[in-house]
Formats: sequence, C-alpha cells, structure tokens
Amino acid sequence: MLSKNDIERRLKANPHPKIVILTGAGISAESGIKTFRDNNGLWENHSVEEVATPEGFAANPALVYRFYNERRGQLLSGEVHPNIAHTALAELEAALGDNCIVVTQNVDNLHERAGTQNLLHMHGALTWAKCVNSHQRLDWLDDLNSEHKCTCCQPQHAMRPDIVWFGEIPYYMDNIQQHLYEADIFVSIGTSGNVYPAAGFADFANQSGAYTIELNLEPSNGVSMFDESHCGLASELVPRFVKKIVSLT
Ligand code: NAD
Repeated sequence: MLSKNDIERRLKANPHPKIVILTGAGISAESGIKTFRDNNGLWENHSVEEVATPEGFAANPALVYRFYNERRGQLLSGEVHPNIAHTALAELEAALGDNCIVVTQNVDNLHERAGTQNLLHMHGALTWAKCVNSHQRLDWLDDLNSEHKCTCCQPQHAMRPDIVWFGEIPYYMDNIQQHLYEADIFVSIGTSGNVYPAAGFADFANQSGAYTIELNLEPSNGVSMFDESHCGLASELVPRFVKKIVSLT
C-alpha cells in the first residue's frame, strides 16, 4: 500500500506534511463497538429517527437517555479498549506533532485513551452532557436521565447527551475546514461516507490540493473522491499506513 509514486514524491518534496485524519465507526469495530449500519441501517437495533434526532428525543426521552446510557456503560465497562489502529494514530501524532489532526465522527473515547491529543469530536461524545437551554457542556461518566438538571441556568433546565444528532450542526466546523484547507494528506478511516458534512471532507481536501486516501473494510460511497482506496481491517491497514508515513517523513 501507499506504493504509488504520488505519495512518495509528495513526501520527498515536503517531509513535514500536515495530515488530517477522519475516523468513523469502523476504526472502533475491532474494539467491540458496533458500527452504525451493522444491522441494515439500525444502530444497536434502533432506527436513527428514534435515537439520533431531536424529534426522537422529544417523542421518547426515556428511550434516548437509556440508549446513550447503555452505550456509555459499555464504553466504560472495562471490556472495551483502544485497538492497534487507535494506537497507531497516536504514534503518528507523536512523530508529527501538531501537523497531525484527528477529526472523529465517533462518540466513543478510544482515540484519547490511546493517547491522541489533537482530536476534534465533531459529533460530540458519550462522556459529555449538555444543558438543553444554554448548551453548556459538562463531563459526564454516569447514567443520565430527565431528573438531572443543569447548574448554569435559573430556572434550571434538563441535561441531554452531548451528541450531535441528525439535523444538528456538527462541532468545530470552522476549525476543521481550516485544517482541511491546509492539509497535505487527508486520510479517511472506517467510515461509510453516508453522513454529511464529513462525507464531503475528501472532496474539499482534494480541491484544496491534498492527497486523499481511504482505508476501509469496503469501498465507501465516496470512493471516487480519493486518490487511493485500500480495503481491509483497520487493525491491519492503519498500522501499515502509519509505519510507511513515519519512514518517509
Ligand atoms: P458507519 O457505520 O456508517 O460505517 C462504518 C464503516 O466502517 C463501514 O463502511 C464499514 O465497512 C467500515 N468498517 C467496519 N468494520 C471495519 C474495520 N474493522 N476496519 C475498517 N473499516 C471497517 O459509520 P460512520 O461512517 O462513522 O457514520 C455513523 C455515525 O454513527 C457517526 O456519525 C457516529 O457518530 C455514529 N456512531 C459512532 C460509533 C462510535 O463512536 N464508535 C458507533 C456507531 C455509530
């Protein structure tokens, strides 16, 4: 992989590239966290509308609280750990420093537990909760329910999972666009390319002059937007990619 002259030539010309990495549910699959579309478009047996939209939350808040409590519980159970793909990306950051940025669609905390620091959680995190009124964020490791009230408003308001649901605007978009604009290499790992705006990042990076690479179990919806696409397990492709980049920089 990465044997194409293009990437080698680019790295020879610029041995200090800026690399922007987009990750999706596929990078955490081998840690035991199910991807989104494992079961015909259902997330852990629930429809997107039920558990990942503001309308679903308004219709049945108890179900939505329970759903994210279960996901958080699994994440913090002691049975879920970062895998070698997460670790490899932390090693890439250790080698490249601030020139390596990970933008994740994932709401798990496996990148940070592997040691990645330059990390943007564009879809929120299971370990965050926010006030429904002010949107002030709190770190949250326990179960959350409608009885929990914020401490930022008077009168107090309810807290909700700090997850960006469908129809809501992802976090850090200005920052991410700037990173994509400056990227020399853009890598998409373990994402199906179904969820926008993340699905459009490869195209944007490409048009801004970056070399674009996809590492996924199967070709994604947006495979034609990439200069290179490699199919396989993240646990195999990502460590190999990182080794290659580190050897060339
Ligand atoms: P997705 O489920 O739509 O796509 C996952 C992709 O990963 C698929 O293309 C699949 O072929 C690939 N894949 C599966 N196992 C893999 C492996 N071992 N190695 C490499 N690739 C593998 O996920 P998405 O594109 O990230 O979009 C889903 C949305 O659901 C995201 O916005 C995210 O917030 C949310 N989500 C997050 C998690 C998590 O935090 N771990 C889990 C499920 C869903």
